[in-house]
Amino acid sequence: MSSISHSAGRLAAGAASDIVLKSLKKDREKSIVKLVDFMEKYMDGEQIDLNYEKAREMICDKDKTLNRYINRLIDEVDPHVLKTMALNLGFEAFMHGTKTIRKMREKYQCNVPWLILMDPTSACNLHCTGCWAAEYGNRLNLTLDEMDKVVTQGKELGVYLYMFTGGEPLVRKKDLIKLCEKHNDCAFLSFTNGTLVDEEFCKDMKRVGNLYLAISLEGFEAVNDLRRGNGVFGKVMHAMDLLRENGLVFGTSICYTSKNIETVTNDEFVDLMVEKGCRYALYFHYMPVGNDASVELLPTPEQRVYMKDRVREIRNMSHGKGIFTMDFQNDGEFVGGCIAGGRNYFHINANGDAEPCVFIHYSGANIRTHSLIEILHQPLFMAYHNNQPFNENHLRPCPMLENPEILERMVKETGAKSTDLQSPESASHLCGKCHEYAKKWRPYADRLWSEEHPGCANKNPSECSDKQAVND
Ligand code: SF4
Repeated sequence: MSSISHSAGRLAAGAASDIVLKSLKKDREKSIVKLVDFMEKYMDGEQIDLNYEKAREMICDKDKTLNRYINRLIDEVDPHVLKTMALNLGFEAFMHGTKTIRKMREKYQCNVPWLILMDPTSACNLHCTGCWAAEYGNRLNLTLDEMDKVVTQGKELGVYLYMFTGGEPLVRKKDLIKLCEKHNDCAFLSFTNGTLVDEEFCKDMKRVGNLYLAISLEGFEAVNDLRRGNGVFGKVMHAMDLLRENGLVFGTSICYTSKNIETVTNDEFVDLMVEKGCRYALYFHYMPVGNDASVELLPTPEQRVYMKDRVREIRNMSHGKGIFTMDFQNDGEFVGGCIAGGRNYFHINANGDAEPCVFIHYSGANIRTHSLIEILHQPLFMAYHNNQPFNENHLRPCPMLENPEILERMVKETGAKSTDLQSPESASHLCGKCHEYAKKWRPYADRLWSEEHPGCANKNPSECSDKQAVND
C-alpha cells in the first residue's frame, strides 16, 4: 500500500469517505476506523506522530470528545465540503504532501514547508489598534496570477495547504474563490475579520468546498469592539451563523495578550465558540512587532503557564470541550519547535517578500524575482534551516521571543532587509523588546520542561535532545 500511486490513493480515500458519509449513524464509527486503517497503510514506513490504535479506540468510544467531535462534523457540515476536506486536507496535504515534502527536503537540502501563508492584500476594511497589517502600508496586492504561480510551484514540492492573512484577505474574496476553483486538490484557509462574509460568499465557499475560515476575535463585545470598531463583534456572530447554516468549516483566531488571556479561554467564551459552530480556535501569543509595539501586552510568565495548561485542557479529545485548539507558542513540542523559515511554513507579504514567519519581517527574496526553491535557499531561510530547533526546550522555540539574540545574529549575518515599507524596524530594536520577557520566562519554561519530560531532569534542557524529550 505504501507504494500506491497518488491518483489511486486519492480514489481510494474518496471511496472510503463516501462510505463514511453514507453510512447509517450506528455503523458510522466502523467506517471512520476504516479511514484510519487506510491512513496507516498509506503512511506505512513514514514516521508520524500519531497513535493509530488510540485514535481508533477514541473514535469508537461514545463517551469521548473525539467521538462527539467527529459525529458533529458529519451531522453539521455539508457533505461535499466534508468530502473535499477529507481529500484535500486529509489525503493530499497530510498524507501525499507529507511524503512528497520529505523527499524534496532530501533532494534540495533545504527546508520545504507543509503550508504557505500569503497576504493577498495589505488593504483592510477595519483599522484595528496594533494590527501588523498596518505595518505594510495599505495599498499592496498580490495578483491572482502571482498567487496561482506560488500554488502551482508549491504543489510540485508537495505543498497542498495555503493560508491567507493580510490585510483583510476577503477584500479579494472573488480572486480567492478563483484560486480555490483552479487548485481543487488543495486546501485553503483564510484568516479574516469576518465582516465581509455574506450569503453569496457562503454559496461560493460551499461550491468550491476547499476554503475554510479563521475569524479573529479578541474577547466579548466590549473588549473586541474597543480594538476592532463598534459593531464588529455582532458582525462576527452573524458571519458565524451564516457559515454554520451553510454547513461550512470555520473556527476562530485569537491573539492573546496580558489583558485578554483569561477572557478568551474562560468557559463562557469557549462554550460560545463551540455553540456557534467553530471547529477550531487558533491562539496566537501577542508579539511586540513594529517600531511602536507595546511590551505591556506581553503575557506574564504566570499567564503563559496558565495558557499552556488551559489550551491543552480545552483541546483534550478524551474529555475536552469539542473544539480543536492550538497555541503556536506553547505547542512547540508537538512540531519540534519553531516551524518558520520554510521548515513547516513561511509567509509571503502583499509586496511579494518571502519572510520566515508572519511575525518576522525580514527577507532577501521576493516571489516576483525568485522561484520557491530560490526562496527556500535564501540565506535567512538557510540560517533557520541550519539552526532549528533554536532551543531544545520547545517551550522556548522562537529565535525572536524567547531567544532574541539568535534572530538579531541571523539577520545581521545573512544581510536580510526589513520588509516593513512604512516604518522599517531594525532586528536589534525588535529583539531588544524581547530580552526582558525571555529572561523572565526561561526559569518557568525550564522547570516545566524538566517536570514534563523527566528523561531530561538531570540535564540542562538545552542539552536534552528533541528525540529524548518526545519519547519520554
Ligand atoms: S519565528 Fe517565532 S513566532 Fe515564528 S514560527 Fe518560529 S517560533 Fe513561532
